[in-house]
Amino acid sequence: MNRGIKGIGLMSVDSIQALLKDVSGGSVKLAEPMSLHTTFRVGGPADYFVEPAGAKNTMDTIIICRRQKLPYYVIGRGSNLLVGDRGIRGVVIHIGDSVSKCVIEDGKIYAEAGISLAMLAHKALEESLEGLEFAAGIPGSLGGALVMNAGAYGGEMKDVVKAVQVFTPDGLLRWVDAHDMEFGYRHSILQKEGGIALAAEIELQKGDSSAIKTKMAELSVRRRTKQPLEYPSAGSTFKRPEGFFAGKLIQDCGLAGFSIGGAAVSQKHCGFVINKGEATAADVLELCEYIQNKVKEKFDVRLEKEIRCIGEF
Ligand SMILES: Cc1cc2nc3c(=O)[nH]c(=O)nc-3n(C[C@H](O)[C@H](O)[C@H](O)COP(=O)(O)OP(=O)(O)OC[C@H]3O[C@@H](n4cnc5c(N)ncnc54)[C@H](O)[C@@H]3O)c2cc1C
Repeated sequence: MNRGIKGIGLMSVDSIQALLKDVSGGSVKLAEPMSLHTTFRVGGPADYFVEPAGAKNTMDTIIICRRQKLPYYVIGRGSNLLVGDRGIRGVVIHIGDSVSKCVIEDGKIYAEAGISLAMLAHKALEESLEGLEFAAGIPGSLGGALVMNAGAYGGEMKDVVKAVQVFTPDGLLRWVDAHDMEFGYRHSILQKEGGIALAAEIELQKGDSSAIKTKMAELSVRRRTKQPLEYPSAGSTFKRPEGFFAGKLIQDCGLAGFSIGGAAVSQKHCGFVINKGEATAADVLELCEYIQNKVKEKFDVRLEKEIRCIGEF
């Protein structure tokens, strides 16, 4: 049964699935609902959803997709994604727990892209290494955090990353020095030039483990108090416009609690669009556009989405 998925060129769905299974060494699901793989809990089916067994399998899967002209999209923990209701045509490659080796030596961490930031921060804590406390509450993978230069509470990936192992669009595997990653506010060179982050070298300072633990606990309380963590979302929906705070602008437009379908502006933090339970991607997108128009009208500020929108809407 191929659940409405079409083969590509001369290849049938079954032969594509078998090929992907072979190269990925992991699981290949058909018509997999992306709502199961995004923190927004929204998104239609991915034709092929692949979880490669390791870093080498991830590269092999990408090589095969390119060779067979299968469109592909790499995701981490789906915590910055809005996937369209009609899903994703082609192959979604999920870099997760099977690509998450982590080795710590002399204050230096080598970690693969699929490790969660929470796990990484806790491993640093176990070694009394400070500098990653900011990341403990960000629900993404290391790979996603490198692409987005994720940050919070005064820290960002760029402060701790020394080098990133990138599988480039032309099929080379190379270490890119942090200075060449063009890290900026929620930006890295990977957004501009493509390429897959497979691992990173992170350097931290020796610290006091109870102080590190206390800081992580404090930041966690701040998050829980200020952010609507009780609802599915993709975190801050919009980037911070220069000189303003997106949440404050949205609040000052009187939009706290405003909803379209199942998507709503959080009452707790207006910078978050939340899924009240039954939201579709179309609801979220329409609400984002509504917010952008209102803020533009009232303050002449253009809000840019921080969340990445992918697939068919
Ligand atoms: C409740 C909540 C709170 C949040 N708080 C913060 C915060 O404080 N600070 C912050 O910066 N963000 C925050 N976020 C957003 C999100 O967690 C980060 O952007 C995170 O870095 C995304 O990682 P991910 O693995 O989930 O990436 P995904 O959402 O899976 O992907 C994001 C983008 O990165 C690409 N990508 C993912 N992995 C790779 C890879 N290995 N190689 C190449 N491209 C890749 C994807 O193609 C996509 O374009 C929050 C989100 C939520 C839901």
